[in-house]
Amino acid sequence: MTESRDLPDKHAPSSLSFATRAVHAGNRVDEGTGAIRTPLVLANSYALPDDPSTVDWSGTELPLYARNSHSNQLALEEKLAALEEAEAAAVFATGVAALHAVFFTFLRAGDHVLITDVSYEATWRLFAELLPEKYGISATFVDASDPAAVRAAIRDDTRLIHVETIGNPTTKVVDIAAIAAIAHDAGALLTVDSTFTPPPLYRPLQDGADLVVHSLTKFINGHGDALGGAVIGDRAAVARIKSEALVDVGGAISPFNAWLIGRGSITLPLRLRQHLASAQRIAEFLARDRRIAYVAYPGLPGHPQHELASRQFGGRGYGSVLSFAVDGDPDAQNRFVSHLRVVTSAVSLGHDESLIAHVGTEGPRVAAYPEEFRRYGHLRFSVGLEDPEDLLRDLEQALDRTF
Ligand SMILES: *Cc1c(COP(=O)(O)O)cnc(C)c1O
Repeated sequence: MTESRDLPDKHAPSSLSFATRAVHAGNRVDEGTGAIRTPLVLANSYALPDDPSTVDWSGTELPLYARNSHSNQLALEEKLAALEEAEAAAVFATGVAALHAVFFTFLRAGDHVLITDVSYEATWRLFAELLPEKYGISATFVDASDPAAVRAAIRDDTRLIHVETIGNPTTKVVDIAAIAAIAHDAGALLTVDSTFTPPPLYRPLQDGADLVVHSLTKFINGHGDALGGAVIGDRAAVARIKSEALVDVGGAISPFNAWLIGRGSITLPLRLRQHLASAQRIAEFLARDRRIAYVAYPGLPGHPQHELASRQFGGRGYGSVLSFAVDGDPDAQNRFVSHLRVVTSAVSLGHDESLIAHVGTEGPRVAAYPEEFRRYGHLRFSVGLEDPEDLLRDLEQALDRTF
């Protein structure tokens, strides 16, 4: 006889494999109507119990007032925790709000943090400007792909290390297990922005990260029509983030965006498979073309952390964002983009449609970029879900017209 705990159950995510979780986790039958999908609930307030003296006014476990928590937010949090195989998740209006919430909750004036020298632009600005100037928190920017450099930069007052699994936009890969060991030796937290490597591609918590942050705006929603962010980790840390940085600061996600992201995430495993396969093919195509100055993509054998990426991401893939430049001046980069007929020129990434953005050679962060980025600038290319043949034809014809 089969033990019941061995049987799959759509209400018990831990009994399910990833694709099944992506379909069922966080989904609820609506008790009022019997509808089998989590309904969109647009109320900003929820009925109080008969005896309101029992209510925790800053609680976040039950729907109360929608800035504390609301029905669609709770359903999405349950799902994201299941996808990252974590205890709990806190959802915010944007990825940047989620990042800010982590730093706001766990740091105080006088603390020091180490942060990767290549990161999402808004994250860089938080540590270069807002946190030091307004909150008195100091930061050292360090090459996080070099564990020895990270260890050497630790100070007595270092409370937190923040890295990206694959850095935006240089595609530098960080050894999460190595940095987690360094952080924990120093009594510091490791927080990891895993936006470029959503599950099931990678789960940083399993390599020792304390908290994972995602911009849900990107792969997890996947359809380019909603903003959202999440912090995922153990129950106590997530509860603290919610009470200190959600209830008291705001940044709550709208029910509609939470609902859209929950719906988008159902197809995450299917979409991701195509994103990863197409990106690898396109990176190899670009790397072979003599009109291309360079391609930065961890799936290419020449990438400086190719072996680490293969090991860390278990051979499942290397993300679907790559940076490259055509062999020419900024005008040539712009000409190339203007000739594209399928790929859209816009920022953001992880959408169904392929997106490309020309980023120049100026700016405060470029000193930390590889030499070729500084020389040519870069085109950040998020490979979408179009037929890869169409994308290859589009790139080829745009190259032909550029040169
Ligand atoms: C987009 C992005 C963010 C910010 O997310 P928003 O939802 O735009 O606020 C943070 N980190 C990375 C790596 C991103 O790509």
